[in-house]
Amino acid sequence: MRIRPFEYHAAVNLEDALSELDEYGPGVKVLAGGTDLILAMKHKTILPSRVVSLHKVGEMDFVRKENSTVRIGALATHFALSRNALLNESMSMLCEAVSLIGSWQIRSIATIGGNLCNASPAADSAAPLLALDARVVIADRDGEKEMPLSSFFTGPGTTALAPNQLLKEIVIERPNAPSAGCYIKLMRKKAVDLSLVGVAFQAETDRAGEKLTRVAIGLGGVAPTPIRAPEAEAMLTGLKRNEVLKALPDAARAAVSVTRPISDIRASAEYRQAMVDVYVRRAGERVVNALLKTGGN
Ligand SMILES: Cc1cc2nc3c(=O)[nH]c(=O)nc-3n(C[C@H](O)[C@H](O)[C@H](O)COP(=O)(O)OP(=O)(O)OC[C@H]3O[C@@H](n4cnc5c(N)ncnc54)[C@H](O)[C@@H]3O)c2cc1C
Repeated sequence: MRIRPFEYHAAVNLEDALSELDEYGPGVKVLAGGTDLILAMKHKTILPSRVVSLHKVGEMDFVRKENSTVRIGALATHFALSRNALLNESMSMLCEAVSLIGSWQIRSIATIGGNLCNASPAADSAAPLLALDARVVIADRDGEKEMPLSSFFTGPGTTALAPNQLLKEIVIERPNAPSAGCYIKLMRKKAVDLSLVGVAFQAETDRAGEKLTRVAIGLGGVAPTPIRAPEAEAMLTGLKRNEVLKALPDAARAAVSVTRPISDIRASAEYRQAMVDVYVRRAGERVVNALLKTGGN
């Protein structure tokens, strides 16, 4: 499969990249790790006249603590994120999710920004970031604006980004109460596969560790975009350990009710829904057992 000829420019910094997008218009595509873009160019589903590489734009490759938030640059690779001490300490669910992306070769070059901008409904970083109420920072030559990640995805493969805009960074509030989370991914093979279903489950407790004060469930691969399951979350919030464990089957069914999966060559819609049911319960049990004291009622 040959790639159609295109012009190439390696941006030296963010400003240079944004100028390119402004000057050359919708025919330009940015290249981060290239693990999605190059395949799309080979399959001729994306045919850019000009490609602007971001690989020299070091200012977009970082993870840092800032006030009550953690900020992740769009060019941070999945490998770097999976090993990051700050993230492992405060939001290990995200590390777990990105460590399941592709193979180590893919994780070493593929970026979190590319994963979100490619906007696959099954993007593995999306469900945990949704469950963490992440916000995205969008940049163009006029400046920057922030929006909730939940508004960023507009459909399969589409986002709120205009052709002259870049995803610059991701902002997440650090949990300020005891918290735990996990990400469970169903895939066809043990090694390298997109998720058929991905469930991110994040919860916080009161200081005494007796009841859940916040529950967030992110779902991937089961709707046109990654989604949250608000009704299921509400059913579990405020409950003590044994109450949560009892309520989980109903909450899992409520989570299934917000899905709109498709049947394709990889799995049927019915199978995907059945697995959401199983995985929400499984993820919930794991998080609740890690968080809440045993012996409560
Ligand atoms: C073998 C293989 C296995 C894979 N396994 C998984 C998996 O298990 N889970 C999973 O979720 N994904 C998987 N993927 C998909 C892919 O690796 C990820 O989506 C990856 O994170 C994309 O990042 P990238 O840096 O390579 O993006 P690129 O390919 O460089 O870019 C992807 C798209 O986003 C745009 N873009 C990139 N960065 C920005 C930015 N900062 N601002 C605006 N637009 C931008 C590009 O123009 C392009 O349209 C796999 C891919 C392969 C080839």
